Amino acid sequence: MPASRTVLIIEDEPALLDAIRYSLEREGYVVLVADDGLAGLELERRNSPDLVLLDLMLPSMQGLDVLRSLRARSSVPVIVVTARDAEADKVAGLELGADDYVTKPFSMRELVARVGANLRRSTIEVGNDDVILVGGDVELDVGRHVATVRGIEVDLRPKEFALLEMLMERTGKLVTRDDLIAEIWGYDYFGDTKTLDVHVKRVRSKIERDPKKPEHIVTVRGMGYKFII
Ligand code: CA
Repeated sequence: MPASRTVLIIEDEPALLDAIRYSLEREGYVVLVADDGLAGLELERRNSPDLVLLDLMLPSMQGLDVLRSLRARSSVPVIVVTARDAEADKVAGLELGADDYVTKPFSMRELVARVGANLRRSTIEVGNDDVILVGGDVELDVGRHVATVRGIEVDLRPKEFALLEMLMERTGKLVTRDDLIAEIWGYDYFGDTKTLDVHVKRVRSKIERDPKKPEHIVTVRGMGYKFII
């Protein structure tokens, strides 16, 4: 475990906060805590943590508003914590730019695995790969981490970039959901596949002319996705 990574927890339930903090500190993480959204945003601004764990059910400032404010200025990986029955919250969180979510109740083992998986995948290696992938009107400069669609640079978050890169590397071939999840979120990923669906939707909204009728990222029903030109 990377000893120097810092995780910011924004959580208002003291017992849960303590349990998460203990589990992460035991793995060697430096942990910052805030029990409301404003304090959390302030801590994030001052300390630039490597990952944020954000409860969506907070007093005063709503978790989704915290996420919106955070995303307006930061691409730090964010895992949102949602209630089991709050399906709409999960999707809203992912669409607002969360990288992953955990649903209460969760085990600390699961949480630690998710934190690790999201930190591993958030590190972009720049400059050691001069590959440029071209697929029709979509161009990915892998080394510079720049995506261009119909001549215009588009802003892809790290996991969105990884998803598109993996599909374009195998242009014309099926990439299974399991392979995408394992490659992008890690083999120890515990989550369900909604996270993948929402990421695909976000990439489509950025590269497709009509995201409802995708011409590049097509669904292979029950199997996975395929990039076509
Ligand atoms: Ca809460």
